[in-house]
Amino acid sequence: MYPNRLRLALPIAFATASLGFGLLAGQAAEEEMSGDSQAIHWSYEGEGAPENWGGLQEEFAACSAGETQSPIDLNRGIASELSELTMDYQASPLKIVNNGHTIQVNFEEGSTLELDGQTFNLLQFHFHTPSEHTVAGEPMAMEVHLVHQNPDTGALAVVGVFMKEGRWNRNIATLWSQMPRSKSEEKTVSRISVDAAKLLPRNTEDFYRYHGSLTTPPCSEIVNWIVMKEPIQVSRRQIQQFVRVVGENNARPVQPLQRRFLLEAE
Ligand SMILES: [Zn+2]
Repeated sequence: MYPNRLRLALPIAFATASLGFGLLAGQAAEEEMSGDSQAIHWSYEGEGAPENWGGLQEEFAACSAGETQSPIDLNRGIASELSELTMDYQASPLKIVNNGHTIQVNFEEGSTLELDGQTFNLLQFHFHTPSEHTVAGEPMAMEVHLVHQNPDTGALAVVGVFMKEGRWNRNIATLWSQMPRSKSEEKTVSRISVDAAKLLPRNTEDFYRYHGSLTTPPCSEIVNWIVMKEPIQVSRRQIQQFVRVVGENNARPVQPLQRRFLLEAE
């Protein structure tokens, strides 16, 4: 999958560590073996809360020292002619994991996003509650992140889609029916296939773009962010079902825009 492994070792290590490709069980075992019972795990509350991420481990330094961090408040973007997004998503057998921070669905190769003449492969999507990006200061009920990677450079393109409280969502219902209840539990359900296109809003031409980071440690600043303006809908009950498994908050607070430009499709 990564032909140029040596050159790309760094960004890929960052990406895989933070995206948690089912590695949590192994990581926990390693930490136990090191005998370091003082290690504080990153989380969304208490000592491991987002404001402390940068100090938890050396590799997490960007979380506090970085200047192009995510998420951000989406407000007053610069109206621009943004290049079109071309998604070519294929149905993939459901592989769903509870990594202790979110519910994540992993994809087999074959689903791609074309952006600025580059091809990014869809690796996974996962959910946050409330939304991580906000619009003029307001969060929505949830946000899904579709994570794509350029296999040649290791760069990521993440498509964020807001989920607002409203109608019951059939596709979310299918996913939630298989949601692993316990941490580091992973399930493959081959009779269910998942098409990421079903999580996109009808209008995929209106979106924001900016350069940012992973919203979880190590907060690597390697992400082309695309956030759709039109939300999809989920019912109140579906939001509650997610909260019951993952908790009330798995969203990093918004970060300063600093010297970046937020672009907005005209
Ligand atoms: Zn995310």
